[in-house]
Amino acid sequence: MNLIKKVKQGATDAAKLAQNKIEMTKIKSQIASKEKEIEHHQALIGEAVFLAYQAGEPIHTKPSVIDHCKVIAQLQNQVQALEQQVLNLKNEKVCTCGHVIPQDDYYCSKCGKKSIAFKEFR
Ligand SMILES: [Zn+2]
Repeated sequence: MNLIKKVKQGATDAAKLAQNKIEMTKIKSQIASKEKEIEHHQALIGEAVFLAYQAGEPIHTKPSVIDHCKVIAQLQNQVQALEQQVLNLKNEKVCTCGHVIPQDDYYCSKCGKKSIAFKEFR
């Protein structure tokens, strides 16, 4: 690669990196707001459970409790998907052991397990 090409490539990489950072910041704030929503629904579950307890009603079958649980499960799935997007932007993936490794690595540096490329399991 000649010098001009190298400089151009460097500028492109830097622009891409900056773009990734912006994207990551956006996703991280989305994750934060979804986590707040989860906390809100957890509080509502607590309230519904207490009201049921006071009224002497069965707690775990209360529709409001179940509804909030369903919403939390949905939000958790969304958070997981967003976290996956962050990993993708950072060119990383998560091994089944939970360790984060570069996307190009075939084996986990912690447990030694062969890991699937991110693109394959999407
Ligand atoms: Zn591992």
